Amino acid sequence: MTPRESWIPGLPAGDLFGIHNLPYGLVSGPPLTRATLVVRIGDHVLDLAAAAVGSEHAPLLEASSLNPLLAAGRPVWRAARTAVVSWLSDETFRARIEPLLLPLAGLRCHLPFEVADYVDFYSSEHHATTVGRLFRPGSPALPVNWKHLPIGYHGRAGTVVVSGTPIARPSGQRLVDGAPAFGPSLRLDIEAEVGFVVGGPTALGEQVSLSQAAEHIFGVCLVNDWSARDIQAWEYVPLGPFLGKSFATSVSPWIVPLDALATARVAPPARDHPLLPYLDDTKHDGSAPDGGGLDIALTVSVNESVVSRPPFASMYWTPFQQLAHLTANGASLRAGDFFASGTVSGPKRGQEGSLLELTLNGAEPVELDDGSVRAFLEDGDEVVITGQVAAAPGRPALGLGEVRGRVVAGPA
Ligand code: CA
Repeated sequence: MTPRESWIPGLPAGDLFGIHNLPYGLVSGPPLTRATLVVRIGDHVLDLAAAAVGSEHAPLLEASSLNPLLAAGRPVWRAARTAVVSWLSDETFRARIEPLLLPLAGLRCHLPFEVADYVDFYSSEHHATTVGRLFRPGSPALPVNWKHLPIGYHGRAGTVVVSGTPIARPSGQRLVDGAPAFGPSLRLDIEAEVGFVVGGPTALGEQVSLSQAAEHIFGVCLVNDWSARDIQAWEYVPLGPFLGKSFATSVSPWIVPLDALATARVAPPARDHPLLPYLDDTKHDGSAPDGGGLDIALTVSVNESVVSRPPFASMYWTPFQQLAHLTANGASLRAGDFFASGTVSGPKRGQEGSLLELTLNGAEPVELDDGSVRAFLEDGDEVVITGQVAAAPGRPALGLGEVRGRVVAGPA
């Protein structure tokens, strides 16, 4: 489907939220009387519940979360998107649809889906290598399994929060002068990631193949996986992250349909280890000729100072491999399942997706525009991660928006 131009008055050509994007969100505020599903176009949103009245999509789009739509599966996702594109581009719908557009300013964004299970991966070779050197000096930087499978862990679905939610500094057990002590984390960090919203449920025992994975990924958003490095470092052996991560995970409020990102598909990095067949994306079956990578450029800002520009295209494991691996044991998928990529870090300085890497575990603090320096986050610091696809021949610019969060003092 090639969307036409929109009839929206004043929408600039090349707008990051033009007719090619149309991310889904959930908003409230006057004149809406309840939390309402919308798509964003430019600096407006379209009330989907009102727009869908009388259409086959009404039962799904009048819900107060995306979950009923997520459960319906990709053929319905495609049909709904086709309908929304028509409403916003076909002049014959204009008289009915234009009154249903609302200015985004003044509306409150909510988490647009109920998170079922949450998994976080660890799929940047550059991130994993640097973390390995910092946390396990003297050992091989990459674990022996790293190039054979996308490493992940199950996170905490109930603490996934929407952008703008204040983040209370967690307390926990960490080493102080070599002895365990309880108190507020002294090494609060961020992880810039990309998240994937899953729909199209599967049955227990069913595997999702690499070529079928895209059928189960509804859309894409930005993630900040807040991480208390001191709590994490003391607790993570041998079972992995636990309380150092579970206190909060922030996500951007706009879910960009995977279909909108079709032109952003790129080849992932060269595979330098042979992959088992269920993960092997080097022999395309024709379903993804441009590869499983996504050319999304991230920026990380602390108190409005850009500290990093991580490139998502550099990720070794793709979301399609991640989903194939997640279901390789027959684990079933539910509408609202959510998985994140792992910290996005590129090969160069200035492309790190965490302060841990940017500052080499605090040894080289970063300087902000106001002259202050940070090894890790202080109370009052505000972190913003943005994402966008740059325009290229045959490829419209697309925005993923931002995920924002301010650190506040927490329970001691
Ligand atoms: Ca993470």
